[in-house]
Amino acid sequence: SNEPVTVIGLGLMGKALATAFLHAGHPTTVWNRTPGKADALAARGAVVAPTVGDAVRASSLVVVCLTDYTVVRDTLAPHRADLAGRTLVNLTSGTSAEARETAGWASDHLDGAIMAVPGVIATPEAFLLFSGSASAFERHEETLKCLGNGVYFGEDPGLASLYDVALLGVMWGTLNAFLHGAALLGAAKVDASVFAPFANQWVASVTGFVSEYAGQIDKGAYPAEDASLDTHLATMRYLVRESEAAGVDTEWPALVQTLAERARGAGHAGASYASLIEVFRGTPRSD
Ligand code: NDP
Repeated sequence: SNEPVTVIGLGLMGKALATAFLHAGHPTTVWNRTPGKADALAARGAVVAPTVGDAVRASSLVVVCLTDYTVVRDTLAPHRADLAGRTLVNLTSGTSAEARETAGWASDHLDGAIMAVPGVIATPEAFLLFSGSASAFERHEETLKCLGNGVYFGEDPGLASLYDVALLGVMWGTLNAFLHGAALLGAAKVDASVFAPFANQWVASVTGFVSEYAGQIDKGAYPAEDASLDTHLATMRYLVRESEAAGVDTEWPALVQTLAERARGAGHAGASYASLIEVFRGTPRSD
């Protein structure tokens, strides 16, 4: 299909999005506050709209990728009349509440999040999260596919943003653990690139724990079929002690230990690691 598309915002990500649409053969109109950023796209055949209003009116599918929702509001608020009757796909990062607030602006709204860096857009590795209007997703799924694989989570426009931050949390947790481990082994003169393959192999094992514990969380029962929380806690203390001994920062392992101790304090000493869900859900602190 060659559905016309408008891209508003040509930062690092917006530029990659517009390039992908052009590459897939979609007539593409672009707008950016700083005009020079559209030059390379114009040379590839993009139409550069002189104003936001012209950009919105050029296509029935309008994709926005700006710094944050404040910028989205400031940029699009004067053009709500033009947005009526069009599909707005907001790929700007923000909170679920912001996504829900913006949802009424176009007749059909999809809020999305991009689980990729600009260089990965339009490759099979890129995946995009969408929520909001089901009919808009159905209608534009084929066009949006040229950016990466799209997943649709349902009518609540805030869900894509929630999945986004939850997934980024998984990334930060994993990366913190890797970086801390690299510091610890680095103190023993082991290079990070020597540690990395072992870290990756272990992350693959951890994906098995994730699937297993998801089942326990959903059932609300945490039988220690693999290891008890007390067994975990004993080895957590070694991670703290090794860090102290190596002069490596202890904040990360101490936090890991504190969370497990709170679960223990809530009566889960003999339960599986999944019992920490009760701490994360906000079980009152024992201290
Ligand atoms: P950039 O900083 O590269 O681009 C920001 C864009 O917002 C530019 O087009 C900029 O215009 C525009 N902008 C900022 N302030 C205003 C304003 N007051 N009025 C009009 N336009 C404005 O950011 P990215 O492209 O990297 O990120 C954009 C969004 O995509 C963010 O929400 C980000 O979280 C998300 N994202 C980015 C990823 C990445 O790897 N880069 C990955 C996943 C999501 P100008 O050129 O004039 O400054």
